[in-house]
Amino acid sequence: MPDFRLYNTLTRHIEPFAPADGTTVRMYTCGPTVYNPAHLGNFRTFLFEDLMRRTLALRGWRVHQVMNLTDVDDKIIKRAHEQGKSIVEVTGPVIAAFHADRVFLRIQAAEAYPRATDFIPQMIALVQRLIDRGVAYQAEDGSVYFAISKFPSYGRLSRLDTREIKSGARVIQDDYSKENAQDFALWKAAKQEDEAAGAAWDSPWGRGRPGWHLECSAMAMDLLGETLDLHCGAVDLIFPHHEDEIAQSEAATGKTFSHVWCHGAFLLTEGAKMAKRVGNVSTVQGLREERISSAAIRHFVFNTHYRKELNLSDEALEASRQAVRRIGDFADRLGSETTLTLGGTPELARAADVAVELAEAALFDDLNAPEALAALFDFIRAANAELDRRGGDRSAVERARAALTRIDSVLDIVPGREAPDDGLVAWVEERLAARKAARQARNFADADRIRAELVGRGVVIEDSSAGTTWKVV
Ligand SMILES: [Zn+2]
Repeated sequence: MPDFRLYNTLTRHIEPFAPADGTTVRMYTCGPTVYNPAHLGNFRTFLFEDLMRRTLALRGWRVHQVMNLTDVDDKIIKRAHEQGKSIVEVTGPVIAAFHADRVFLRIQAAEAYPRATDFIPQMIALVQRLIDRGVAYQAEDGSVYFAISKFPSYGRLSRLDTREIKSGARVIQDDYSKENAQDFALWKAAKQEDEAAGAAWDSPWGRGRPGWHLECSAMAMDLLGETLDLHCGAVDLIFPHHEDEIAQSEAATGKTFSHVWCHGAFLLTEGAKMAKRVGNVSTVQGLREERISSAAIRHFVFNTHYRKELNLSDEALEASRQAVRRIGDFADRLGSETTLTLGGTPELARAADVAVELAEAALFDDLNAPEALAALFDFIRAANAELDRRGGDRSAVERARAALTRIDSVLDIVPGREAPDDGLVAWVEERLAARKAARQARNFADADRIRAELVGRGVVIEDSSAGTTWKVV
């Protein structure tokens, strides 16, 4: 088996990676805070994590991925308060929308999606453990805080300059900057609006609710054990969220919380402000309304390494639409019986083997998806040339098909699996009938205009003696 390497934020180095038990990667991924639909930047992170789990599977490991749904925190309570709702009423529809977006983007389901509100007893037990070990205390405001001065390695992940730590100063909000590295809240004493929103529970320290950082530590350790193989998230979670997760977990158990930490870079949408097509799109729903396929979005995201910033632009999305169209055409060609000819040469099979070898080597080297894509397109070019020149027999074409399937098991960028919706089907059928009538009346200008109309909505038509077929690209 080839080496498998990942960039570990903890050490700032690319290192060999393998699961501790040799078979199953236990992986925790910080999920969405479900107060409004996740934006495209969140989904870039979830696509990076999808790339991770599929690459780990390609390498031959089992994956046990947990992604939490933060369904109680400062932002959700604020939203519930504004809308006069309970937190459950706010989070329910957002969770449903998250899964719809996830499925649209072909992001494989994690093994578990725990909701924070289902793990309150585990969170209370973790706080108690920290108090018993003398690293947490209840302050005069009724909330329980983690004493960062009692945990000497605090700041290791984010390279915080610990001389800056303000001993004894406290921060109650979940989000704060490095300049405000202070004792952070584990358990927050309930306020009137927490009670009103159904966001308060009994605890040994009175009515209250968990802090955001505590939620992840408690769920991760309950579902995956006290030491994880891998913990992922976006770069903005390094501080304070992941720093605080490490502090809480390791101070309680005395063990390493996660061997490896991987962080995905941002998707920048500011650069897209001037773009006509995607200028105002900030959600997956918006991309769907622009009729941008999930294959094109995945290609767009994977065409830049996960640790590099990515700019959303019309041009890049258009290039990805073209790229996945080529992949789709190639898949169609390999799937068609008419591709098979006698007298195929070993060239096609050889190109297939090279493609798999190069794509795997790239993916196993810190998830280098752009290089895997380059290997795939080199393969498509070589295979098409060989099929044009000498054709391919059944075994060579099957080898090529298997290579495409193997690479696509990670990238999942062959277009066209989305079924067109009923409205579109009815519209296309009506337009095709009008075009047929125009052609029969020898009114070719009208027929061409209708074809252009169809192309404008991504529908490509093909005429043959058997009639007209169409597909959405
Ligand atoms: Zn988290």
